[in-house]
Formats: sequence, structure tokens, C-alpha cells
Amino acid sequence: MGTIQLSGVGRSFKSTAAVSDIDLIIEDGGFVVLLGPSGCGKTTLLRMIAGLLEPTAGRIHLDGDDITDLPSKKRDLAMVFQSYALYPHLSVRKNLAFPLKTQRLGAAEIATRVQEVADSLEIGHLLDRKPKELSGGQRQRVAVGRALVRNPKAFLMDEPLSNLDAKLRTQTRHELTALHRRLGATFVYVTHDQVEAMTMATKIVVYDRPESVFVAGFLGSPAMNLVDARIVTIDGSIAVTADGIAGGLWPGDVPDLDVVLGVRPEKLTIASAHAASDTRGVRIAGRIDLVENLGGEQIVTCLVAGREVYVRTSRDVIATPGDDIVLTAAPENVHLFDRA
Ligand code: ADP
Ligand code: MG
Repeated sequence: MGTIQLSGVGRSFKSTAAVSDIDLIIEDGGFVVLLGPSGCGKTTLLRMIAGLLEPTAGRIHLDGDDITDLPSKKRDLAMVFQSYALYPHLSVRKNLAFPLKTQRLGAAEIATRVQEVADSLEIGHLLDRKPKELSGGQRQRVAVGRALVRNPKAFLMDEPLSNLDAKLRTQTRHELTALHRRLGATFVYVTHDQVEAMTMATKIVVYDRPESVFVAGFLGSPAMNLVDARIVTIDGSIAVTADGIAGGLWPGDVPDLDVVLGVRPEKLTIASAHAASDTRGVRIAGRIDLVENLGGEQIVTCLVAGREVYVRTSRDVIATPGDDIVLTAAPENVHLFDRA
């Protein structure tokens, strides 16, 4: 069992509200993703559920019991942090054993449990290493393992994939989904990444404070691509420029301006890098990095000057990782925001 109920939960720091008035029921066994932009209070909310931070308003229940005033250790919840928060001076074995030491288990029992969990995450051969001798992906597994050893009612995960590269992120996403299925435990997962939310969640809670320009990026699915760019006027026409990005938008004459350029993933068209440029609008040069199936559609992750741009298309569009491509967007689908 692991049903978590939040009633009117809030947290202020001095006079500023980081989280206010959250009512939410997280059902037992669900994989609930709280999705929202950076700074909207996701970490603060998770820390309150974990018992690492006291709410300034509201109550938190676990399986019907009020746990608001219960210390973290007694909550039967485990948290995986964005930074992994491993003990640098302890071996992987000791990092994994640490949460069990407080549970008065015998040494043999602890050793068995640690080995079991390490094997299930395929890090059984790394038990004698220190965190600094591990890759990012391996550290991430140790962090998950440390949550797993206690067999908690619910896992609280704070952007656990944000320090991994794109390929490893996709692989780990699949592994977390499989782990969730295998354990049947409740997963509460916070992220600012809409693709993560869509590919893993059984339920998505969009969680934002609509004062940020970036909220524009969070409505729609997946998130609007937002790229820093510059607006310039060339021969009476307003054009956009950035690394890998060029194109005319509208007739006009404006002073040069730094902006955030936004295009929704479903408004981008993929063309071969060699195709002639016969369209008006923005052209974005990049390379296909990943293709993920999503029902009848696919999400194509492209790398453009080192950053990820998402395209959502029908599965009929041929997209091959490694191909150089050009993404095009018609002027009416290009949004410009002030650089905040
Ligand atoms: P997220 O995880 O969604 O990026 P956070 O929960 O970290 O957001 O932060 C939400 C807001 O609360 C931010 O404006 C942040 O500056 C503020 N905040 C978080 N922790 C503290 C703290 N310990 N003291 C003061 N302000 C904080
Ligand atoms: Mg955070």
C-alpha cells in the first residue's frame, strides 16, 4: 500500500510561497509525474512528502495515516535526488547498506539484501567502488538502489535523469518503467521534461505557476521547443538568426532584438539536409539523435547546435538517427517571447 494524500499543502520561505494550496491524491501503485518548469516548487513539494521539510500549511496522509509530523525515517518512503546525494567516502556497498543500518537488521541479512538489489540493477560488480569511480549512469543506479533496499511504500524521485545524456536518459526511462511494473510500488516523479512525463507516467499532474514565460512551453504535448535567437531586419524583412537557425518571418522593420523563439513539436517538418529551400519560414539545421514511438506517432529528438529540439510526427515520416536534416516551420507557427 502507498496512497499519498495532500490536503492544502503549502510552504513559504520568509514571505514567499514556494508551494501553495496543493490538493492531490496519489493512488497506490501509480506512476505519477508532477510536471512543471524549473522553480515552480517541485523539489519543495517532494521534500515535504519525504519529511525533509515541514509544510507551513496543510496535511499529508499515507494510507490514511496523518504523517505530517512524522520524522522522515519513520515514513516508509524513499527519495532519489537529482544530485544522487551518494556518500562520496563510502563504497557502493556501504552506500546501499546505509538505509538498512537504522533498521536493526543483522549483518548477513543486510549483505544479502544489498547484493539482491545491486544484482537487480546490474551493479553487483561495482560494490567495492567509490562513487567517484563510477560513470553518471552507474551513480544514478546506485541512487535508485539506495531507495530500493528499504522496500518502501513509495519512491519519490526528483529529476533523477537530469544529469544523464540523451541516450542514457531514454534507456533509464525504460528501466524505471520496468522497475515500477516489477515492484508495483507507488512512484512520484517530478520533472520539467514533458517527454519523460509522457513516456513514463500513468498520471501526469501539470504543476506550474502561470507567471513565467516558459509556461508557454508546458501547455501542449510535448513541450514547445524554446531556443534563444536574435531578430534582425534584412531588406525590409524580419528574420531570425541563431546557431543553426535562419529564416525570414514577416515583412517589417524592427530594431535588432534578443528573443526566445518557440515552435511546437508538431509544427516542425523534417526535410533532408540536401532539400532545396523553397519555403518561407524558419529553417533549423540539425541531426537526428533519437526516434521514440508513441502510439501512431513518433517523437524525434534532434540535436541543433548541441541542444535538443523535439519533433512530433506521424510514424509514416522516415526518421533515422544520425541523419543530417533540416527542420522547417512556417512563420505563423513561430512564436517569439521576450528574453526574461
Ligand atoms: P523546482 O524544484 O520546481 O525547480 P524548488 O522547489 O526548488 O523548485 O523551488 C521553488 C521556489 O522556492 C524557488 O523560487 C526557490 O528559490 C524557493 N526555495 C526553495 N527552497 C528554498 C529555501 N530553502 N529557502 C528559500 N527559498 C527557497
Ligand atoms: Mg527541483
